[in-house]
Amino acid sequence: MKRSYLLTVLFFLFTPASICLWQPANASSHHASGKPAITATTEAVTAFINVNVIPMDRERVLKNQTVIVRGGSIAELGDAAKVKVPAGAVRIDGRGKYLMPGLIDMHTHLFSDDEYPDSIAGDELAIMVANGVTTSRLMIGTPEHLALREKVAKGELLGPTLYVASPELTGRAARGIFNGRTVRTPEEARQAVRECKAAGYDFIKLTTQITRPVYDAVIEAAKDAGIRVVGHVDLPVGLYRALEAGQQIEHLDSYMEAVLRDDAPMKVSVSDSGVGRKANWESLDYIDDRKVAAAAKATAKAGIYTCPTLTFFKLSYAVPQTEEQLRRRPDYRFFPPKMRESRHRAHNRYWSSPPSTERLKRYLSVRNQLVKGIHEAGGKIMTGSDTPELFLLYGFSLHREIQNLVEAGLTPYAALEAATRNPAEYLRALDTIGTVERGKRADLVLLHANPLEDITRTERRAGVMVRGKWITEAESKKMLDEAATRFQQAWGN
Ligand SMILES: [Zn+2]
Repeated sequence: MKRSYLLTVLFFLFTPASICLWQPANASSHHASGKPAITATTEAVTAFINVNVIPMDRERVLKNQTVIVRGGSIAELGDAAKVKVPAGAVRIDGRGKYLMPGLIDMHTHLFSDDEYPDSIAGDELAIMVANGVTTSRLMIGTPEHLALREKVAKGELLGPTLYVASPELTGRAARGIFNGRTVRTPEEARQAVRECKAAGYDFIKLTTQITRPVYDAVIEAAKDAGIRVVGHVDLPVGLYRALEAGQQIEHLDSYMEAVLRDDAPMKVSVSDSGVGRKANWESLDYIDDRKVAAAAKATAKAGIYTCPTLTFFKLSYAVPQTEEQLRRRPDYRFFPPKMRESRHRAHNRYWSSPPSTERLKRYLSVRNQLVKGIHEAGGKIMTGSDTPELFLLYGFSLHREIQNLVEAGLTPYAALEAATRNPAEYLRALDTIGTVERGKRADLVLLHANPLEDITRTERRAGVMVRGKWITEAESKKMLDEAATRFQQAWGN
């Protein structure tokens, strides 16, 4: 979603609390084009012994393996009976456990975006890591995010490897804090694309109020500059133009409009900000299921990677929850009291006159059908949490998203692909991340049980390894406790 939709967030007077837990011996890992860090023999060695590996190269489990991590990379992987554990290695007993690639969140924002960027960013990244997220894409970038990306890559800050999309390109600046570029003409659009590329952003992020001529200019300029376009698809652009342009689409934007029957009395529906307009929900009675299937097929055929952010839209707009249910969420405690109040109010306001149960169900089922249809047609789905919206925080929500993909009809393996291999491919980093293989960066999650049998087991962690740094579950819990405390202090009560 767009940050300007967020309820006003108060950032005042707090001291930077970036944590720097770790200084590796070899800090020369490289971002983006990223080959794994070349390791030196003097470096610390960690061995996962007798572990079941879910490599994610295809659907299989390699039983009783030993995985040797040296520096930031997987140095060896093989039969536990054959792989020799070097003397002095830190030994992690993997018996009965499952080792899989670290998770990738393709859609996040930081609380510390906007005016106070450096403040609690370190804690935000630590929350992601503690949940097993080892790569993350920040969707509306700032110069401070670029600095964070660098710090993480150099090993100066514990965090997931970051990819940073540009400040939002939009036709209309948001009121208040606005981290974007207003692009009203093709010339403004071309200029913005060139400047964002030159500034070092990894992607061009589109949000809303984009006219067709501006869109066309963005696509053309991005092609010339060698940078890819991601984000929202506005109605004047439409789904099929975005597919043709090769844009990577977030939130299934514009799909709900694209699947309306030809004789529907309206053209608007509930994609993106339309979801908050109650009148638009009437369009749910006019959906053409053949168009749903066709849109899914067209997406796959165009080779577009889809980041549907099912969880955010489901929990914000389609499934009512009691205050008690919201409070019971594990991420709830990170939200400062003032922010909680305003978010409860927004939730109550929306649910005081909700769309009919039938339309809510239809909404969920069409979005699920799209995701399943895209996957079955050979398209690639990617996980994104879109936090910190509502009471949904990084990591915690990424697991919900993986579970919601299974609920939409993907197999557990396909859902795990969406959180590992598919985004690695899209990021053009499959040579570094996304699978467990020799030579890859040691971004790993160790689980107590097999997630291919029950997808909720991605939350039953024994520990996380990020860039070769091992963090036990107990250490993760401590990181979360500390971050929660600092979050509360950051906003005051
Ligand atoms: Zn977003």
